[in-house]
Amino acid sequence: MKTQEELRRDFPLLQRRVYGRQLVYLDNAATTQLPGRVMDAMCGHMRKSNANVHRGAYCLSEESTRLLEQAREKVCGYLGAHGAGEIVFTGGTTDSVNMVARGLEPGLTEGDEIVVSSLEHHSNFVPWQQLAARRGCAFRVVPCPDGEFDMRAFEAVLGETTKVVAVASVSNLTGSVLPIAEITRKAHEKGAVVVVDGAQAVRHRPGDIRESGCDFYCFSAHKMCGCSGIGVLYGKRARMETLSPTAFGGGMVKTVTPHNTTMEELPYRLEAGTPNFIGASALGAAVDYLKETGADEIARIERALTAQLWERLGAVDGVRILGSPEKREGIVSFVVKGVHSYDIAALLDKQGVAVRSGTHCAQVALRELGAQHAVRASVAFYNTEEEIDILCRALEKSIRMLKSYGGGL
Ligand code: PMP
Repeated sequence: MKTQEELRRDFPLLQRRVYGRQLVYLDNAATTQLPGRVMDAMCGHMRKSNANVHRGAYCLSEESTRLLEQAREKVCGYLGAHGAGEIVFTGGTTDSVNMVARGLEPGLTEGDEIVVSSLEHHSNFVPWQQLAARRGCAFRVVPCPDGEFDMRAFEAVLGETTKVVAVASVSNLTGSVLPIAEITRKAHEKGAVVVVDGAQAVRHRPGDIRESGCDFYCFSAHKMCGCSGIGVLYGKRARMETLSPTAFGGGMVKTVTPHNTTMEELPYRLEAGTPNFIGASALGAAVDYLKETGADEIARIERALTAQLWERLGAVDGVRILGSPEKREGIVSFVVKGVHSYDIAALLDKQGVAVRSGTHCAQVALRELGAQHAVRASVAFYNTEEEIDILCRALEKSIRMLKSYGGGL
């Protein structure tokens, strides 16, 4: 097992300095850093095998295709899926959710219901809200008071007309872990399709799909040590077969005549156009890296850091942490009385600490928690206890500075 120092050395960017200080990167919920090996895999693909996939009968194209398909196999193994046909490459979580929403659309009619939780990222909220409006479906939002999914309220809205339940595995605002296995079981009893947003979970909960039995699972590579611009839509084979393609073009068809087009098999049927094969190589390498590091080890480190983050931030004078769910992973958001989150983040930045501020694409959840904006600190397994100390000291200093300028605290 690697020491924390060895782990950190795998990530070149963590050596960076900003404003003359060692960078403390605590915005991992927005994007994670890339191990050097992942960058090497991307560059290797570009340097040696760059060619379009599934098209050419020449060496380079075959290599490029092999790298793409190897990545698909790796993702399949990582998730415990039943075959490569269940893994579709997309542009990211947002793209995956939209693909499911659009793909399920023909099967929905007026009077059907779509259920989401109030903790959802806009990417797993707005596509369903829009779909409901287009099809005349009811759109139900399950409350999550204090960041905890309200199972009773869920049971109350669940009925024979519920057709889709879309929930996150881990909230990007509060870090709440939602009970997706129980949600799935209850939704399946009513015959509803379950779509899980795994963006914040996939790095440390690769067993989500197996354990929950959900129908679709969406995530982005850039939140699991891969690069931006690529993600995955997992779907149970039988469910995937029912999904209408939402994009049409090259690569997803078998025959095209002036009168008719026949579609390719899965997963290609849902991958119109040239896929992001360089991104796929990076994702494959990221999966290798995560597997080698070990899901249990990653979860262990991140849980310990989250507990420390929660405890230390909660002790800072003037800080109110948003939500107190029983299970929380990787993320703690907070507000400082009388101060805008942007001011805090800007002052932390000048002290070398990168955190996110604003609404975090979760305006419904923010409002439910009585806030309009928040500061969010989020850890990955390469962070350290010392970095959390630096954050808290820098935060205390920032609050002191804002107070002395009459920030109205
Ligand atoms: N869902 C959750 C829970 C997220 O945290 C994010 C990214 N912030 C998304 C969806 C959207 O991911 P992407 O922007 O990569 O599509």
